[in-house]
Amino acid sequence: MTRALYWFTRDLRLHDNPGLIQAASADLLLCVFVVDPRWFRPGPFQCRALGQHRWRFLWQSLMALDEALQSKGNRLHIAWGTPEQSIPALCRGYEIDELHGARLPGSYERRHWAEICEAVPQVKARQHENLTLFEQADLPFGLDQLPATFSAFRRQVEKARIEPKPPQPAPDALPPAPGLAQDARDQCPPVVDPAKGGGNAGFMGGETAAMAHWQRYLWDDQHIVHYKDTRNALDDWPSSAKLSPWLANGCLSARQVAADIQRFESGVKKNDSTYWLYFELLWREYFQWMAFAHNRALFQRDGVQRVRRNATFYGHRFQAWCQGNTEYPLVNAAMNQLRETGYISNRARQIVASCFVNELELDWRYGAAWFEQQLIDYDVASNYGNWQYLAGVGADPRGLRRFDLDKQTRQFDPDRAYIRKWRGDSEQAVGLHTVDAADWPIGLD
Ligand SMILES: Cc1cc2nc3c(=O)[nH]c(=O)nc-3n(C[C@H](O)[C@H](O)[C@H](O)COP(=O)(O)OP(=O)(O)OC[C@H]3O[C@@H](n4cnc5c(N)ncnc54)[C@H](O)[C@@H]3O)c2cc1C
Repeated sequence: MTRALYWFTRDLRLHDNPGLIQAASADLLLCVFVVDPRWFRPGPFQCRALGQHRWRFLWQSLMALDEALQSKGNRLHIAWGTPEQSIPALCRGYEIDELHGARLPGSYERRHWAEICEAVPQVKARQHENLTLFEQADLPFGLDQLPATFSAFRRQVEKARIEPKPPQPAPDALPPAPGLAQDARDQCPPVVDPAKGGGNAGFMGGETAAMAHWQRYLWDDQHIVHYKDTRNALDDWPSSAKLSPWLANGCLSARQVAADIQRFESGVKKNDSTYWLYFELLWREYFQWMAFAHNRALFQRDGVQRVRRNATFYGHRFQAWCQGNTEYPLVNAAMNQLRETGYISNRARQIVASCFVNELELDWRYGAAWFEQQLIDYDVASNYGNWQYLAGVGADPRGLRRFDLDKQTRQFDPDRAYIRKWRGDSEQAVGLHTVDAADWPIGLD
């Protein structure tokens, strides 16, 4: 009798999950998600890895996954602890023969997997490429030859005509779980009621919610046919696909999205906009491979380019930025929206990141850490890749990107509706040179 453990991480779904399908050929299957207490403690850049909005979205996704697993004859076991201890302990406790999980690009996650394999050498461990459109073996270059820019990456991928593998349907049934003691749900931190802590900007975690949203966006409302013209809007729900929280948590597979776009193009309409949504998925793809290729350099100040740029840390400027109290109303509005909902548009992210690096002259890693805490769609590769790009130390041949904040306001918020909606005209605006001993250390929430 074989016993498998499937460790869910950023692939919280049953559809297009080839690793789960393989694990399901065992006689008994233990499905596990590990909640790591380190996520809830402040890290080196003053922020926690997981703020309340993302925690709520993740929790909703886990509950939806549990329900989906139960409908197939299994269930989700939630463990509380570090994965490098919890997974080996479960492997030993349940006499597991095979361990399956997604291959992840983050450097901690890679280290954890290596430590787990070392701790239980008798278990056959296998990682699956669940996050990306392509598999590494399909790329027309080795990871050590990954193009230094997105454009070169896209050109090579398109020239080689590589296609994502067709998405696989959810398994019809799953083997039963081995008998389980009570899991650690009660030990996990409480989820803040959306009514009290913001509303996740209209997003609901889980695979079913993801599919329903995507179905509406693509097939019912067909917003995709205008995507290229609308995607730069600051704050308008249908202006962009709003897939990122589900993609980041793996409630939706990128391969599924790509396949659906192709189906839409052949059955309904194909235009620049339908291509552009796929083009943006390629951006995501590029950042995933960049993270795989550069590992820890993704988190280092000098970036993957290893260029030194002047940057420092002023506590009062950082605090003003996080709390929407800078001298820049457009930036304040976006930062208020981010703090209150856990989501802002791509345009708003570029504006606040440019302000952080160029106007406030702060070390980009603090901004990235705040995004990591706040964003419900936080994705290690996309977040750190984009921050490096804007800070001029990443995959951008043009160097530092500086957005003219007045021009951005005129162009994207001409009647200041966004600034008004998110209260960007702060009465407590903090000037660049205001320093007070009481600002240090700063408390952020
Ligand atoms: C400083 C900064 C930090 C960011 N951090 C994250 C992050 O942590 N997680 C995240 O998913 N995206 C991040 N992005 C990228 C982008 O802003 C979001 O993916 C996008 O706003 C999500 O909204 P959407 O799904 O409506 O996007 P759409 O415009 O509808 O795009 C569709 C999908 O394409 C992908 N995509 C689009 N633009 C990018 C991009 N620039 N980089 C990578 N993927 C992209 C996303 O998966 C997105 O869901 C960041 C961008 C910046 C400038």
